Amino acid sequence: MPYVPVIGLEIHAQLKPATKIFCGCSTAFGAPPNTQVCPVCLGLPGALPVLNREAVDLAVRAALALGCTVHETSIFARKNYFYPDLPKGYQISQYERPLATGGALRLASGALIGITRIHMEEDAGKSLHHGFADSDRVTRIDLNRAGTPLIEIVSEPDVRSADDAADYFARMRELLVAIGVNDGNMEEGSLRCDANVSIRPGDDAPFGTRTEIKNVNSFRFLEQAITYEIARQVDVVSSGGVIVQETRLFDSATGRTES
Ligand code: ADP
Ligand code: MG
Ligand code: ZN
Repeated sequence: MPYVPVIGLEIHAQLKPATKIFCGCSTAFGAPPNTQVCPVCLGLPGALPVLNREAVDLAVRAALALGCTVHETSIFARKNYFYPDLPKGYQISQYERPLATGGALRLASGALIGITRIHMEEDAGKSLHHGFADSDRVTRIDLNRAGTPLIEIVSEPDVRSADDAADYFARMRELLVAIGVNDGNMEEGSLRCDANVSIRPGDDAPFGTRTEIKNVNSFRFLEQAITYEIARQVDVVSSGGVIVQETRLFDSATGRTES
């Protein structure tokens, strides 16, 4: 293959067994819609978020296990975007001063993958598009998940194959479960991975433009999605096209990524 891939991974891990990050609501999975909510996680005017100490402890534990530097001061910020399942119109996350920076994870292949940063943030709610008699006309919103405490673990663009990406995700899961930070339940969405993928003509060439495949929740799908995406990018570039920086979705039924 005339091109080599460059991959960076972002993992969102739910902090367990903590309650929500800025209120005392339960984060148990599978309750009837909108039964685990309060003025804070609904984003009602005047409600005051109070940071959950246990969630911070769990995030620090993950950071230490990955050899990161935990900063004495870190700052929460508002990430503004408009989406129906984000009641406040912004997500409370960390941007300029994250909880921790600069760790690493060793893979079976021997590769050492740098951890750029770990920050804390709240999850959004869920949009329910299916399963209602009138679901061709309406989408319903379940806010039970809104305010669930997450860490986002961002890797350096150090991963060089789809295999290594799947191994990174698997080892990260094993580690987070072993230290009691995450329940490892990928089907319930407790652990999700975004893959950033680009190609370049050789190991010394500058990085190419990346695409980001969002929310993959299985090791096999991650491997398939990245393999497909590398081949797609090679096709585009080989036939004289350019890669557009964009978010892509993996369709596990077809094995393809889509814009
Ligand atoms: P964003 O908010 O756009 O997702 P982040 O900084 O959170 O940005 O994450 C960027 C991710 O993309 C990191 O994991 C990083 O290693 C990876 N990345 C950056 N540049 C490239 C590239 N050229 N090819 C592949 N991955 C990349
Ligand atoms: Mg991202
Ligand atoms: Zn609440």
